[in-house]
Amino acid sequence: MAKEDSELAEEIRHYMNIGELVPDGITQPMLRRRLSEDGSKRGFILDGYPRTLRQARTLDDFAKIDAIINLIVPKWIIIERLSSRRICKNCGEVYNVRFLKPTTEGVCDKCGGELYQRNDDTVQVIEERLRVYEKQTKPLLEYYASKVPFIEFKCKDTNIPPEVAVGEILRELRSLEDH
Ligand SMILES: [Zn+2]
Repeated sequence: MAKEDSELAEEIRHYMNIGELVPDGITQPMLRRRLSEDGSKRGFILDGYPRTLRQARTLDDFAKIDAIINLIVPKWIIIERLSSRRICKNCGEVYNVRFLKPTTEGVCDKCGGELYQRNDDTVQVIEERLRVYEKQTKPLLEYYASKVPFIEFKCKDTNIPPEVAVGEILRELRSLEDH
């Protein structure tokens, strides 16, 4: 089982490294299994899934989506943020060489681990991911428009702290609940 899992992880990593979507044959059974576990019974958030119309249609067969959270971010901000992201090899803490610098360059504040850049966080791969988004994922906005309430958050500059975005999204989610 462990060997199968690590082979699967390796395969998933391969698609991420080249900026392509992980194939449905891998993601769908994983997701279906995960959503049937106890921890998902009270609710769940899917981050970056579904990404294609086909995935959305299949998802309708086994999960009910209550709301879509659409983060609207200009391309230059996406490229700037992702290409300057660094992650600790040891504890996974996320830094940003422009906006959230570690005290010592290349070293994790928390554990002293070495910081690295993900293979899919280079400008070239990010641009490819954005092209894939335009072609395959953007049509989903229309697919869900008539079915599910939308919460939109527009990110206009790089200085908006994550907690401000989260606060606004939570407020809107709660107001959906009240209706
Ligand atoms: Zn660390």
